[in-house]
Amino acid sequence: MSNRRTLPDPGQLANAIRTGDRVALGRAITFTESARPEHQALSRAVISELLSTPASRQTLRIAITGAPGAGKSTLIEAFGLYLIEQGHRVAVLAIDPSSQVSGGSILGDKTRMEQLSIHDSAFIRPSPSGDSLGGVARKTRESTLLVEAAGYDIVLVETVGVGQSETAAHSMTDLFLLLLLPGAGDELQGIKRGIVEMADLLFVNKADGERGALAQEARRHYANATHLLPSKPSGWAPRVLTGSAIEHQGISELWSGIQAFVQLTRSNGYFEQNRQQQAAYWLKEALQDGLYQLFYTHDAVRQSLNAVEKEVLAGRMSPFAAAEQVLEVFRGSSV
Ligand code: GDP
Repeated sequence: MSNRRTLPDPGQLANAIRTGDRVALGRAITFTESARPEHQALSRAVISELLSTPASRQTLRIAITGAPGAGKSTLIEAFGLYLIEQGHRVAVLAIDPSSQVSGGSILGDKTRMEQLSIHDSAFIRPSPSGDSLGGVARKTRESTLLVEAAGYDIVLVETVGVGQSETAAHSMTDLFLLLLLPGAGDELQGIKRGIVEMADLLFVNKADGERGALAQEARRHYANATHLLPSKPSGWAPRVLTGSAIEHQGISELWSGIQAFVQLTRSNGYFEQNRQQQAAYWLKEALQDGLYQLFYTHDAVRQSLNAVEKEVLAGRMSPFAAAEQVLEVFRGSSV
């Protein structure tokens, strides 16, 4: 109860976020990540308040993925600092459903982005934890809205590059960047074909020292591979670049590639259309989650479900008739 009394006023919190108060931003994200209903309600109120005044700057959301060790944090550090030099403010978020198990496998350790993490124009937040990828992803999506409202115009969403979190990152970003290593095919890097297909830009990292030739070879390989893919609804043909995050090589070329993508997709309407589709997707997801919650936490439904389950297991009732009976209980009750 005492907690409830200390909850901030959503309007004040939203104002503090708008003025760039990092503590307020961090707090709002914590409420977004919390499972407590009153925190969730507060987070919704803050986000609604913030969305009611459109962002003054155009924002750009970039997914960054690649196998562990490909150099994601090193690239984010180099690229983030480069963007800040260009006058941008950069937020780094992550989707890593394994973070609960491993105690934060990506972005958990801020020293991985030493300079960026202490920069005034950067905001870094480790992956939220959660029971399901959907839950984790949803929190990151909401945090994106919060950091944008706080004036971070470029949001980098990092994922580990080995599983489903890429699809989630793809569903909340404008552009998908895949980091690759020289001299290893995607199978060896643990990169699934579907991930290569999602990529708008591919960056063969570690093209330094003796790996220069291997990196060029990898670039050709991926250029061929992406050439064979069906064309994208964005009208953009994926580009393959090489560089070295550690030596800050290829960073401005990466930014040029990103700008070319943005220019094309803004002029052909895809950029806006994609954001709208993503918003519709998250609306549907939120409704599904809400319905699921409503249904399974409903007392009469639970009782009915317990009862019919026994009948179904004993073979005395068909699963479909049983489901219908439980749904009838739900329909007939005022929720
Ligand atoms: P992540 O797991 O994808 O985030 O990869 P890290 O950024 O932690 O990098 C993994 C290792 O590769 C670290 O030891 C980095 O110093 C190293 N590394 C990252 N980028 C480069 C690069 O461009 N060149 C070289 N030679 N090493 C790099």
